[in-house]
Amino acid sequence: MNSDSIIIFENVFKSYKGEEVLENIDFKVKRGEFVFLIGPSGAGKSTIIKLLNREEFPTSGKIFIDGTDLSTVPFEEMHKIRRKIGVVFQDFRVIKSKNVFENVAISLEVVNSPTDVIQEVVPNILGMVGLQNKIYKNPSELSGGEVQRLIIARALAHEPDIIVADEPTGMIDPRATGEIMNLLNEINKMGTTVLMATHDYNIVNHYKKRVLKIDNGKIVSDKKGGTYHD
Ligand code: ADP
Repeated sequence: MNSDSIIIFENVFKSYKGEEVLENIDFKVKRGEFVFLIGPSGAGKSTIIKLLNREEFPTSGKIFIDGTDLSTVPFEEMHKIRRKIGVVFQDFRVIKSKNVFENVAISLEVVNSPTDVIQEVVPNILGMVGLQNKIYKNPSELSGGEVQRLIIARALAHEPDIIVADEPTGMIDPRATGEIMNLLNEINKMGTTVLMATHDYNIVNHYKKRVLKIDNGKIVSDKKGGTYHD
């Protein structure tokens, strides 16, 4: 076991109803790395994220998170793994009937954090993402970039080791995109591993991180300091 790898995919295959969508996915992500997961629509990026979070199961192969083989984790123990991972989805999964504070608090309530901890942690996290002045606003009163920062705040609330972001800049303007990227970079600098699926070649070419490229369910390149077209 390679203990400096926080994510390991070992010969992972995934089929839906006999149709293969991932073929022999094999990679490792070191603790503290920032990795872009790129590839055309339908390539398999979201499926990789769903396998990480065990929303889906591999057809064969193994996935390790922080040294734990996901296939060995009983359902009732999965919250321990999920606590290590903060997932930022592309489709803005905020709760529209709750305000900004409550949207973040909920991710602490589900892990049974005491109220006094929630009262302290939530404003801190909202400050970190620059939403300290929007605490009691409803998500409908926020811009797209602010909603995305709220989603990142929620993913950060339980202090995960890994942030997995599925197209976090897919639906926001260039300025908000810059803010989200700065935020993800800051989070990464503090030691959190970041895996970000994106279509945005400007971002990938600008930040020169490790680029893992998927096409048609296969890894077709894996380069440090890579660009979108490597
Ligand atoms: P990406 O995120 O790169 O756009 P996805 O991982 O969403 O790609 O999808 C990869 C392939 O898997 C696509 O061909 C998609 O149609 C298929 N797929 C994804 N989810 C399902 C599902 N639940 N049932 C059947 N096919 C699926």
